[in-house]
Amino acid sequence: MYLDNSATTQVSEEVFKEMEPYFMQEFGNPSTLYGIGRESKKALDLARQRVADAINAKPEEIYFTSGGSESDNLAIKGIAFKLQKKGKHIITTNIEHPAVKNTLGFLESLDFKVTYLPVNENGIIEIEDLKEVITDETILISVMHANNEIGTIQPIEEIGKIAREKGIKFHVDAVQSFGKIEVDVEKLNIDLLALSSHKINGPKGVGALYIRKGTRVVPLIHGGGQEKGIRGGTENVPGIVGFGKACELAANNLDEHYKKLSSIRDELIDKVLSTIPEAYLNGDEETRLPNLVNFRFKAIEGESLILLLDAKGYQASTGSACSSNTLEASPVLTALGLDPVDVHGSLRISLAPESDSFDVDEFVNTIAESVKRLREMSPLWNQELDYDNIMCRKHEDNCRKC
Ligand SMILES: *Cc1c(COP(=O)(O)O)cnc(C)c1O
Repeated sequence: MYLDNSATTQVSEEVFKEMEPYFMQEFGNPSTLYGIGRESKKALDLARQRVADAINAKPEEIYFTSGGSESDNLAIKGIAFKLQKKGKHIITTNIEHPAVKNTLGFLESLDFKVTYLPVNENGIIEIEDLKEVITDETILISVMHANNEIGTIQPIEEIGKIAREKGIKFHVDAVQSFGKIEVDVEKLNIDLLALSSHKINGPKGVGALYIRKGTRVVPLIHGGGQEKGIRGGTENVPGIVGFGKACELAANNLDEHYKKLSSIRDELIDKVLSTIPEAYLNGDEETRLPNLVNFRFKAIEGESLILLLDAKGYQASTGSACSSNTLEASPVLTALGLDPVDVHGSLRISLAPESDSFDVDEFVNTIAESVKRLREMSPLWNQELDYDNIMCRKHEDNCRKC
């Protein structure tokens, strides 16, 4: 059972079928004028239309890239370099994906000033905090739509309104939210929006940046004038075709998938919190993605839990795929104000709409058994525990109070 769909997803059959002809028969370069090139160009146009339709944009506002990371880089550096004469101040949050965070870190080394807004204990920024830090020098606000580790959703529409009023460009990393909840660049007042194909059952290595008409960015990859000179290099035609199809499917199935996923999610949260002692939910209980949950278990080491679950056939993760091979405590969970020791006992489960065979009861029992086993070996569980404080919800036999 694959439960790490926030890290990547399986390419769907329909997407793969749509891509297939563009590897061998339709291999033309879209920039050429003869038949086979024109076919590739047509395929790009259709994909561009599909991406645009999925976020309520116009096709000429969609620029294809190599994925979410490149789109974030292009948006942030592209605006920073374009507007640096106007000001060098950028506002973001302290729970952004590394593609945003490290891009901004790079800009700091070039004398840009970055303000990192804190999040509350549920992982959401305060609008008042944002209003306070805006200056005449602020050129860009970059806030992710939904977080990749905890699934919490930010008040994008409100932030967008403020940015619009102040004439500040607004970039949103929507890689996790896209295909899970509505992403409408008009309604949300967004100027630049990053998307990635492989998080929505499309192929890896392709994505897009939405750039609102009238917003100008400096290109990062100079070349043969592709993507209106904003992103040089012969287009990844099969990848873009697959991405376009994945967008169409995601948009068509949005409501149905939302209902299905959120009901599994709620059942999962309910059962984990009511059957496992000292288990907590990371992130906001309400304002969250339908497919992602993140739990924290007292006195557990997340990596050990992952291995036990893997042995039982469940593939989940401790946090984001990008940081799970380092021993550093997750900056996102730390930003929630959690103790670094507790942060290490986290488990992220991200579901796919096609997970029909997923048995929540069986899974929760497996987690409960694994947690119990690990706690029996954990020095933290024995030493630190204030026995009177153990929450006993169902008189499980690992409830020491009983
Ligand atoms: C996965 C992810 C990215 C990076 O996208 P790639 O296509 O893998 O480069 C950026 N932001 C968020 C929130 C992500 O989850």
